[in-house]
Amino acid sequence: MTRPDIRSQTEREIQRQFEVWREPSYRVRQLLHWLYAGRAASWDEMTNLPKSLRQRLGETYTLAWPELARRQGARDTTQKFLWRLADGALIESVLIPASPALYGEPSDRHTLCVSTQVGCAYGCKFCASGLDGWKRHLRVEEIVNQVLAVERLEGGGGRTINNLVIMGMGEPLANYENLLPALRILNAPWGGKLGARKITVSTSGLAPQIRRLADEPQQFRLAVSLHGATDQTRGRIMPINKKYPLGELTAACEYYQEKKGRMITLEYILIAGVNDGLDQAPPLARLAHRLRARVNLIPCNKVEGLPWERPSEAAQEAFLAALERQKVAATLRREKGGEIDAACGQLRLKTERMFQRL
Ligand code: SF4
Repeated sequence: MTRPDIRSQTEREIQRQFEVWREPSYRVRQLLHWLYAGRAASWDEMTNLPKSLRQRLGETYTLAWPELARRQGARDTTQKFLWRLADGALIESVLIPASPALYGEPSDRHTLCVSTQVGCAYGCKFCASGLDGWKRHLRVEEIVNQVLAVERLEGGGGRTINNLVIMGMGEPLANYENLLPALRILNAPWGGKLGARKITVSTSGLAPQIRRLADEPQQFRLAVSLHGATDQTRGRIMPINKKYPLGELTAACEYYQEKKGRMITLEYILIAGVNDGLDQAPPLARLAHRLRARVNLIPCNKVEGLPWERPSEAAQEAFLAALERQKVAATLRREKGGEIDAACGQLRLKTERMFQRL
């Protein structure tokens, strides 16, 4: 029988196991402290747990920890972490220092973007993650550990990450069964202690799972990768639009908004000559008003192997101004990670291809 990973277990599950072992309840608190505040990477680090208990834990559970394969970027800029998992799979997390334009927060705040799958099956035409197809879902602990491993590397024992966006490699809501337990652990007072409103789940538009997420008790934020305000334009770059066209997607988002309030952001990657035409601004504004959503405009990055171009700055500003004229709360993001391959999937792809060439 395969052992579960300790960081896939809830406090209640660990308590039950400790009761069976006749361990006092304070040992549960000590263990949880090592797992989350202490970000322990091995049982041996848990020095105030008796050796016999550590051994028993090691026989019952795994304690996975990702290996840092590569790191790009400087401490005060966007940093990209490439992790090698136990089976050799590579995944990425990106740490982005906050800019007031983006979040209205002081600059000591950091946002971490984490992955949920190895590769991606959704094949959005502008994205490097899907270029080599889908490999597997990440397990609960593999999602949780990205947060803990970055905080451990950034050091200090304090809190580095104030915002979490589930927007890295993979379609998060396609891995719902592992994502939600991971988010509950990261949100729990005994676990990651991250407020639900500080956690944004991104999706390319899986309408049924958006409704399911709306029915969860936690107030997670939702970011919808729209990238086109009409079925024709969106369908050109997002194959998912065939399965869940805008009408269906919008109805699911409306359901989310009714349940959660003002929690939706519409992500819109601006691609020259594809979706940056001003004809897209009025339907985008209508959608934003209907969903009471803000719009994040993201000029696209050049991705090796893909033909898309970033619009000129004038075209970006014109699109923003067209939305603002229609009273949409919109921001234009200067992609901070452009120079270090921060578009999702790029670093993994480059490294994998490099390894293939060796
Ligand atoms: S944008 Fe997201 S959903 Fe689309 S291919 Fe990339 S990782 Fe997958």
